[in-house]
Amino acid sequence: MALTFDDGPSSATGKLLDELKKRHIKATFFVVGSRVEEFSDLIMREYKEGHEIANHTYEHFYLTNGDSAAINQQIDDTNDVISKVIGTDIGKTLVRPPGGKVNDAVSAVVDEPLILWSLDTLDWKSRDADAVHSRIVSQASDGAIILMHDLYETSVDGCIAAIDELTEEGYTFVTVSELYERKGETLKPGVVYTNAPRNGVDLGTDNGTRENSDNKEKSGNNKDQDEGFPWGFLIFSVVVLIVYAVGFVRFVLSRSHSTSGRWKERTHAKTVTRHRNHNRSNRARRQSLARQRRR
Ligand SMILES: [Zn+2]
Repeated sequence: MALTFDDGPSSATGKLLDELKKRHIKATFFVVGSRVEEFSDLIMREYKEGHEIANHTYEHFYLTNGDSAAINQQIDDTNDVISKVIGTDIGKTLVRPPGGKVNDAVSAVVDEPLILWSLDTLDWKSRDADAVHSRIVSQASDGAIILMHDLYETSVDGCIAAIDELTEEGYTFVTVSELYERKGETLKPGVVYTNAPRNGVDLGTDNGTRENSDNKEKSGNNKDQDEGFPWGFLIFSVVVLIVYAVGFVRFVLSRSHSTSGRWKERTHAKTVTRHRNHNRSNRARRQSLARQRRR
């Protein structure tokens, strides 16, 4: 599942980052462009700690209310300010339309994938950690995209409690991009997504280019387990091959021994006959010599 946090950063974001870091979990932050410079330290942390920073427009603008120029400006200005703060051009990002407001006109203009959600925690409404926690746990499903807002500490507490409970059940939490990567689906510009395929597939991950060494090690391990080279099968095949090879060599050797034995016997027999003939002719010659001497 993917954890997504909209509308931030805010004063609640730091605690969320601390808790996610302890658990080696990466989330996706759909940030509002106009807040990025004010909370630049938190944006920098999100970036450095390997989270996905994505686009929630510059002014929490309902894209369905704008023409193509307004839509493009809201999105481009947000990408620009994020790039400026982290000191790296982030290029195209994922876009979450504020209010989930999207239509064909918006799809036609936006040059990035449009990411909605499949699990709404309603955290902005309840402002209650237990309610957030129970909504996540009761509606958790393979490939889900979970909507939260890192504006409230109740969202952070409820989310962390749910993470701990669902991790015990075997769920893993990844960024939106990684979720689709692991599901083997390529995100396309202008297409609206609500959740990744619920197919139980997990292709693992090999990204980790800007994670710290600790996380790199972790994703390396995951890779070995999830999609690594099938060493077990290779070793099994090699052992079977060696057993057959040894058997074959022993068979060939035993055959060649018995043939050489038979060959020796045959040549020995020939030698014996030759010697016998030789002796016979010697005897004959001696007898004729003796006969000559007697004459
Ligand atoms: Zn929002």
